[in-house]
Amino acid sequence: MDNFLIIMIVTTGTAGLAAGAGAAWMLSRKKVRGAAEEAGRSTELLPPDENEEHRVPSFSLLVSQILGIQRQSLNADGVVYLRLENGGLIAVGASPGTETRETAVQSSEGLYGIAMNEEKEVIAEIVQPQALRHLKDPKEPCSVIYYPVIRRGSCIGLLAAHRGVSEPFSSKDILSAKRGARFLDELEIFASRSRKLEYLRVRSEKRDTGIVEMLRGKDLSEMADAAAKTLANILGCRFSFVFLLSSKHEYPYLVTHGFPPPPDDFNRPEPGTWAFWLFAHQDDYVLLQGSAAKETPMPILRRDEKLPADRIALIQKLKSGDDILGIAGAVTTEKEPFAPEDRDSAQLFLKEASALIELSMINLENKQLAIKDGLTGLYNRRYFDETYHKEFKRAERSAEPLSLMMFDVDHFKKINDTHGHPLGDSVLKEISQRLSANLRETDILCRYGGEEFAAILPNCRIQEASEVAERVRCAVQDAAVKLMPGTEIPVTISIGVSAFPETTPSEKHLLESADAALYEAKKTGRNRLVLARKR
Ligand code: GH3
Ligand code: MG
Ligand code: MG
Repeated sequence: MDNFLIIMIVTTGTAGLAAGAGAAWMLSRKKVRGAAEEAGRSTELLPPDENEEHRVPSFSLLVSQILGIQRQSLNADGVVYLRLENGGLIAVGASPGTETRETAVQSSEGLYGIAMNEEKEVIAEIVQPQALRHLKDPKEPCSVIYYPVIRRGSCIGLLAAHRGVSEPFSSKDILSAKRGARFLDELEIFASRSRKLEYLRVRSEKRDTGIVEMLRGKDLSEMADAAAKTLANILGCRFSFVFLLSSKHEYPYLVTHGFPPPPDDFNRPEPGTWAFWLFAHQDDYVLLQGSAAKETPMPILRRDEKLPADRIALIQKLKSGDDILGIAGAVTTEKEPFAPEDRDSAQLFLKEASALIELSMINLENKQLAIKDGLTGLYNRRYFDETYHKEFKRAERSAEPLSLMMFDVDHFKKINDTHGHPLGDSVLKEISQRLSANLRETDILCRYGGEEFAAILPNCRIQEASEVAERVRCAVQDAAVKLMPGTEIPVTISIGVSAFPETTPSEKHLLESADAALYEAKKTGRNRLVLARKR
């Protein structure tokens, strides 16, 4: 009997009940609140359920089935499961035919409070209808039993049963209610596990969608954009970014989501920002929340960004082995920290995203290798042939001028013979750099073969082209190539220039006539520039 707290309350009015229960409530208020808070915290561990509508009916259906069986075994008129939520007791299920009130009952009130507070069952023989606050419309006085549902030493709710006053509940009924309460607890654990699984499923779905979006990206920038959006989606953030900046490859690329778009020339993390800090440090990520964010008030991405001081941010490296491919980050504006599960999910996503980004970088690199010359890094002959045709057609279509230049190193054989082939290679590299330094970004410079180069100059007339060619010729002639102390190799080039439509309207002839002009430059003394004859 010691284990049971049985209160026999026989009263004819609610005032008496309130007075009787009130003292116990006053004494143990703190404890009840403590338990409620404890319970509140444990329910907080359950993440918000995005499929609440789907979950609740099946849970309450199960509860009402169990309570139906409980009603029979207790021979009760009705059995209700009251769950503790935010300090109130809410009827989350009832035996079929039992109507419950939708509003919460204070968990510290009357008999509810005693059962919750003492964490022991309460039996009352005659309870007035007004005191059965969890029922919708009780008419008769009832006998009641309230049995606490205990989880890890805390009361998480009550099993409440009522029946006619002529048949008060007995100690045998207490054992039955005890079994029912235990079953409800198991059901809660089961439901919480299913919710957790559902939550994990939703998260992995977000990651999967992000990966699919990234795979759909046409280039690295679209992939980075999909990664930034997915990161924000997983963490429920407004601001996110992906900065691609591989230490192995040169792809400065910043994609922002929520942040103001970066200026065009913004291609390195700025000193004095967390992005810069992380890039320069060993750590794989930084998590800024709570006091850490306040004590180290450094901007996340750009020095001039305006984010609230109490922001919460996750910034993580995109890595492949030791190679840093970039940095990604997400920032909240609220003070709420990320749910640990969301953070895990986001960090996992960034690892998966890194693998995709690396693959895409390798792909891009392979594509580059296929069109670039290994020695000079200029475009190769294959690329020239494809591009020359495309550029000519474009010029023709849009009636814009196009110039073509062919360069050949003078007496290069002699350079090879005098200094050896490897040094000859270095001279070719040096010349290719001087050529490229004197052309526009939009010009297409290729190694045409051996010691010959070709340049396509879109939207460039012959006059301008000849000025550029002369500048290039001087740039090669004016400074001897110095590869080792004491070795100065004087080099000159000959150049042939043709222009569409000024010297010829034909694609084939444009090429042939530039070559012919170059041949003429050779014939007439070398280190010269010759313009193609008009045709
Ligand atoms: P010209 O003024 O008439 O153009 O005389 P040249 O000696 O430059 O012309 P020629 O066509 O006789 O010789 C070109 C030389 O360029 C021959 C070849 O061995 C050398 N060459 C071609 N490709 C390379 C290369 O990749 N590296 C080196 N070092 N030499 C190369
Ligand atoms: Mg040649
Ligand atoms: Mg030559």
